[in-house]
Amino acid sequence: MYLQYCKGGGTDGCAKAVAQKRNALYNIRNLMTLAEEIKQFFKGEVDDNDAARDQMSRDASLFHITPAVVVRPRDAEDVEKLVAFVAAAKKAGRNLSLTARAAGTDMTGGPLTESIVVDFLPHFNHLKEIGPDFAVTEPGVFYRDFEKETLKTGLILPSYPASRELAAMGGIVNNNSGGEKTLKYGKTERYIEEIQLVLSDGNLCTFKKLTEAELEEKKKLQTLEGKIYRDMSALIFDNQKLLTEAKPNVTKNSSGYFLWNVWDPAARTFDLTKMIVGAQGTLGLMLDAKLRLIRLKPVTRLLVVFLKDTKDIARIAEKVLVYDPESFESYDNNTFKLAMKFFPEMMERVKGNLLKMALGLMPEMWMLLQGGIPKLVLLVEFAGDTAAEAHDAAKKLEKELKKDFGVKTRVTATDEETKEFWVIRRESFNLLRHHVKGLRTAPFIDDFSVRAELLPEFLPKLYEILGRYKLLYTIAGHVGDGNFHIIPLMDMTNPKSKEVITTLSKEVYDLVLKFKGSITSEHNDGLIRTPFLRQEFGDAVYALFEKTKAIFDPDNIFNPGKKVGGTLEYSLARIDTEKKS
Ligand SMILES: Cc1cc2nc3c(=O)[nH]c(=O)nc-3n(C[C@H](O)[C@H](O)[C@H](O)COP(=O)(O)OP(=O)(O)OC[C@H]3O[C@@H](n4cnc5c(N)ncnc54)[C@H](O)[C@@H]3O)c2cc1C
Repeated sequence: MYLQYCKGGGTDGCAKAVAQKRNALYNIRNLMTLAEEIKQFFKGEVDDNDAARDQMSRDASLFHITPAVVVRPRDAEDVEKLVAFVAAAKKAGRNLSLTARAAGTDMTGGPLTESIVVDFLPHFNHLKEIGPDFAVTEPGVFYRDFEKETLKTGLILPSYPASRELAAMGGIVNNNSGGEKTLKYGKTERYIEEIQLVLSDGNLCTFKKLTEAELEEKKKLQTLEGKIYRDMSALIFDNQKLLTEAKPNVTKNSSGYFLWNVWDPAARTFDLTKMIVGAQGTLGLMLDAKLRLIRLKPVTRLLVVFLKDTKDIARIAEKVLVYDPESFESYDNNTFKLAMKFFPEMMERVKGNLLKMALGLMPEMWMLLQGGIPKLVLLVEFAGDTAAEAHDAAKKLEKELKKDFGVKTRVTATDEETKEFWVIRRESFNLLRHHVKGLRTAPFIDDFSVRAELLPEFLPKLYEILGRYKLLYTIAGHVGDGNFHIIPLMDMTNPKSKEVITTLSKEVYDLVLKFKGSITSEHNDGLIRTPFLRQEFGDAVYALFEKTKAIFDPDNIFNPGKKVGGTLEYSLARIDTEKKS
C-alpha cells in the first residue's frame, strides 16, 4: 500500500507514504501509553494519573491546562534521553513537547502544557557550590533555601521576587525575575555567569560570555552548539541597528528574547546567556546556573509615605529617585485593607511575632478604624552600615517630602517594624489569591512599565482607561522602575470577563507602547502576553524571535506557544472558568 501510494504520488506523496509507514511501525511497536514508553528509558518518576496531572495543571495565572504526563528526571542523563525521545517522536509526526516546571508560581501560564511537564523540584534541588562571590544552583532549589545558604557567607542574589517564599531558581532564571531591590541592583540577567542547557538534540551545553576569539572557535564546532553560535551571531550582527532600536526604553524588561543584550560592543563580548535568561524554557531545559552574588549593606530603614490620593505620585517619584534609595515600592488601599484583615495569617506565613508586629502597626490600624485609609502607601528603603546611617538617609527625604507635599509619613525605627511593611507588600498578591470570595485574581495587565520620569503624563491616561471599566482591582508595584502590578478581581464564570481581558489588555498595551514601555517587566510573556509580542516589537523583530526559536529548537520541542507562535484565541480558550478564588 505504501509503495503504491509512493509510485503514484510524486515526491510529496512519496514522503507522505514513508512518514505514514514510519508512524504505523512506531504505533505497532508502541501499543503502550506515553508514560509507559518514557518509563522504558527513564530513571525518575513518570505519572499519568489524574492527581499528578491535576497538580501540574495550574500556576498563579488565569489558566488551567492539564498535561498528558508528568515526569520527574533524576539526573542529566534522564533529561537528555527525554529530549532525544521527544525529538524522535516529533520526526515521526507525533505531537509531543516538553515544558519545564520549577515551583509553578508563574503568573502567565509559562509552565502549563497539554503535553509533557518536566518537574525539576524533586531531584534537581541541590545548591552545588557557593564560591567567594557566586553560587551554582539547580533549578529545583527554592529561593528561600538558596538565600539561607548564601547569607551564611554574607552574600545574596538581590533580584529575588516578591514570591521569595514560594519560587524556585529555575523560574527565577527563566523568567528573568526581579523584585524590590531591582531599582538599584538590576534583575536576574545581571547576575548570570553560566547556564547549562539540554539542547534540542539531547546534548548538554554550557553557555557563558565569550571573547571574539572564543566565539570563532565555537562557530567551528560541527554540532548543534556550533550551529547555534554560527546562526545566532549572524542574526545578531546582521540586525544590530534594528535590535538596538527594538530594546524597550525602560529600566527592566522580561518581554521577548533579549537579543539586543547579547553583543556588548564596548567589551567586545558575545553572551547568549543574556537571552536564554527570561526565555521561559523555550530554548532548552536548564540543569544548572552559575549566579554572581553580592554583599549588601547590613541595615535598612524604611520611609513609609501615606498618600490620600495619587495626584502627586509622579512628582514625588521624581524627588525620591534623586536620593538613590535601595528600593522604592508601593501598594494601594485595597491591599492595605486586606493586609489588616488577614494580619494574623500573614504573620504566620512569615513566622513573625504577631503581638509585637500588631503593636508596631497600631497607627495604621487606627487609621483603618477611623476610615482614613491611604489611597497609596509608598515604601522607600535606605541601607547603611549602621542603623543610624540608614535612618538618617530616610529622615532627610522625609523632611523634603513633608515640606513639598505635606504628606503623612513614618520612618521605621527597628528591623521588626521595617519587616512589617515589607510583609504587606510582598504578600499582597498571595493574600488576594486566597481570600477573595466569588471573584478571583486575574493577572493580565499585571506587569507593564514605562520610564519613571514619564509617569506624570502616563498615569492620568492609565487611570482614565481603568476608570471606564469599573473593575475592582489592586495596584502594587515598583514605582522607581515605573512598573505596576494591576490585579483586577473578576468572576471568570461570566463570559463577559474574556471580552474585558481582550479589550482592556489592548487599550493598556497600546498606551504603554506609545510611551515605548514594556508590556512585562518581570513576570514574562507566557500564554497571556505572547499574543501581543508582534504588536510590541513589530513584524521585523518578531521575525527575529521566530528565527531564534528555530535556530535553537527547530522542531518546537520546548514549551511551544510561549514567546513565539501563541494566539489569543488559544489562550482565552484555556482560561480557568471553574476556579473562583
Ligand atoms: C505571590 C506572587 C508574587 C510574585 N511576585 C513576583 C515578583 O515580584 N517578581 C517576579 O519576577 N515574579 C513574581 N511572581 C511570579 C513568579 O513567582 C516568578 O516569576 C518566579 O520566578 C517563578 O518561579 P517558579 O519557580 O515558580 O517558576 P515556574 O512557574 O515553575 O516556571 C516559570 C517559567 O520558567 C520555566 N522554567 C522553570 N524551570 C526551568 C528549567 N529548569 N529549564 C527551563 N525553563 C524552566 C517554566 O517553563 C516557566 O516558563 C510572583 C508570583 C506570585 C504567586
